[in-house]
Amino acid sequence: MKKAIGGLLAVVLIVLILAAISYVRMTSFSCSSACVNNLRQIDSAKEQWALANPGTNGQEAVVSAVNQYIKGRTTPACPEGGIYTYNPIGVPPTCSGFDKGWLGAKRPHHM
Ligand SMILES: [Zn+2]
Repeated sequence: MKKAIGGLLAVVLIVLILAAISYVRMTSFSCSSACVNNLRQIDSAKEQWALANPGTNGQEAVVSAVNQYIKGRTTPACPEGGIYTYNPIGVPPTCSGFDKGWLGAKRPHHM
């Protein structure tokens, strides 16, 4: 009987540890806010460009034209060295950079 209780305790302990690890993984992620800000800037610049150029919805954004609506008139730099893809109008821009979370888990930058 004692042995069975010990085994049960071990199982409960393992389950608790696994739950704690997945909790930490889910909650410790925080995307680089500087990069998220850049993505938002690019997205709003795309919207302004699309407004000024009717018929561009769904079309690939022209980076040099969209950049005219961004402060500094140039593509912002991702703090983690990611590369921005502007994507078509109506599709959010993406970054190739990753944030490292707890336990080495990685998450791509996104808005
Ligand atoms: Zn990034």
